[in-house]
Order: sequence, then structure tokens, then C-alpha cells
Amino acid sequence: MEKKNIDWSNLGFAYMQTDKRYVSNYKDGAWDEGTLTSDANIVLNECACVLQYAQTCFEGLKAYTTEDGHIVTFRPDLNAQRMASSAKRLEMPVFPEDRFVEAVHKVVEANAAYVPPYGSGATLYIRPYMFGSNSVIGVKPAEEYQFRVFTTPVGPYFKGGAKPITIRVCDYDRAAPHGTGHVKAGLNYAMSLYAIVDAHEKGFDENMYLDSATRTKVEETGGANFLFVTKDNTVVTPKSPTILPSITRRSLLYVAEHYLGLKTEEREVYMDEVKDFAECGLCGTAAVISPVGKIVDHDREICFPSGMEKMGPVIQKLYDTLTGIQMGHIEAPEGWIHKIC
Ligand SMILES: *Cc1c(COP(=O)(O)O)cnc(C)c1O
Repeated sequence: MEKKNIDWSNLGFAYMQTDKRYVSNYKDGAWDEGTLTSDANIVLNECACVLQYAQTCFEGLKAYTTEDGHIVTFRPDLNAQRMASSAKRLEMPVFPEDRFVEAVHKVVEANAAYVPPYGSGATLYIRPYMFGSNSVIGVKPAEEYQFRVFTTPVGPYFKGGAKPITIRVCDYDRAAPHGTGHVKAGLNYAMSLYAIVDAHEKGFDENMYLDSATRTKVEETGGANFLFVTKDNTVVTPKSPTILPSITRRSLLYVAEHYLGLKTEEREVYMDEVKDFAECGLCGTAAVISPVGKIVDHDREICFPSGMEKMGPVIQKLYDTLTGIQMGHIEAPEGWIHKIC
């Protein structure tokens, strides 16, 4: 297979159309057999449920080339599981989990020429999603749905090393108690746009959202979970029913415990104790871990001892170990690496 002529190391995080995508339609209570198509466009009725009432959810994962030249994905079964839970919360039919994994496999295989080579730092981003497609004007779930998977090559998240970012405590809320914060629904992102544009205008990289009921506990940012390290090297992540269960965060906790022998805690984290942590990072598929150097809470600044120049030592070890597992230099736990070809 010959790779496309792409300047891999200068790719950003933007959509680039690739050759094939997967489509399956749900109608009369059943999903069809699904197919790969070259057509990147979707034609919808003006009154489609997704356009009127935002009945849509998505997933995000990556394919990459390992050191020994295989194309692999990382724990796609967990994305399938999470999409099933998102679909249920949004009254959408579940796309069967085994078929989800198979669809991801097929699309990556069909676009293998777009999977960046080992060592470029770039990856093939995979976006599965589904939406209510028939016309709905009275508020109710759609009867017809489309499940799709497309891919797009994306550049290394950190160009020239991972520089710690500055975030602010946000006055807007991300998720209500008993709301949809724990599922990957498009609506959670629509309503975060105002807050993120505002944060960027004020010079912050991200928003830190607190629990909306008491505004005393750390939740997450718009698209990544928090990970903290205490001064005695315990890895702590916030626990809350309104946080999106990040696959990266869950994998990092496993790595901390089983590969690095660190203590881990998943518990409520109060804003008041954040100043006592030694390191802070944001975890998600895009960056694996993005180090946080400073948190601005209105008139108060929290500067982590790890500073603004580089990742803290524990976060660096977590990052190196998980990316090592993904790239095939470190042996992966059973079932984590799904080989495409
Ligand atoms: C997708 C997402 C994450 C990260 O999840 P990963 O599975 O690690 O990519 C974190 N928070 C939110 C709100 C998300 O939508």
C-alpha cells in the first residue's frame, strides 16, 4: 500500500477528506447491513430530528502505525460501549458494539494510505457518530437514524514539546446533576462554545468546570478529564456522575497502578485542595495528557510546582508509558491494542 503524499509532520487538527467512510441506516426498527462509501456528503430533510433537536452523539479514537509497521487502534471496544450508553440516554437505537468495532476496522483499513507513518507523531483520527435523520417537528425521538464513521489524518498534538497550558475556573456550567454530562452528546459541545470562545478571548487555553450543584468540586474541561498528582506521588482523578468517562483517563489510572506502581484514587476533588497538588494534566484521546501549569480562579492563581516549561515528572512517566503501549514499545495489557493490518 502506498501512502498518500501528505506532509505528515505539518498536519494540524483539521478535517481532511479521506477516501472511504462507513454508513449504516436504521429504519423500521433495524440497522441495515452497512457499507463503505466514497460520498462524504449527507442529504437530509430540512426537518431532520438532528437539525431541530440535536439528537446526535459521537465518539473519537485514533489509528496509528506501530514501531513494527502495523496499523492499530486503541481499545475501540470501550468507544463502542460508551456510544451505546450515549445512544440510550438520547433515546437512540444502539448500534451493536461488535459491529461498531468492525465498522471502525473497515474504515481504517480502507483509508490505510492516510494512516501517518511511525515516528511522524501524526495519527488517523476516527470519528464514529449517529443522528436522528427523519423529519420530526413535535418533540420526540426520530424513527430513522444514520450511523457513520469517517477518518481524517491529524498532526502531532504537541509540536516541539508539550508546553503546559493555563486554564481558568469557568462561571458557566457544563453539566447539570442527572443531565447529560456523562454521555458524548453533541449538545454538550454546542453549549460549551460560548464559554470556550470567551476563555480564548481572555487568554486562557481551556475552561475548568466545577460541579454545577455546589461549585466546590472539580469536574472536567470541555473535552478532557483532569488528572492530579499529589506531593507524595498519588495519582488522583475526580469522580462524579456528570463527568464523561474518558478512556484515556481510565487507561492512565491502570498504567499508574500496574506499570508504575503508583497509588491511585478516584474520588471527589474539592477546588480548595487543588493548590496542594504537585502536578496537573488534562487527559483525552487528542493529546493523551496535556500538562496544566496554572489555574486561574478569578482573583486567585494556582501555579503548580511543575512550572510552565515542561510536564511534571509523574505526568511525563504516565505519558511515556501509555504512548509506549500504543506505539508498541511497551507490552500492552490484554485486549488494549486492536490490530487492523
Ligand atoms: C471525549 C471526551 C473526553 C475524553 O475521552 P477519551 O475517551 O479519553 O478521548 C473527556 N471529556 C469530555 C467531555 C469528552 O467529550
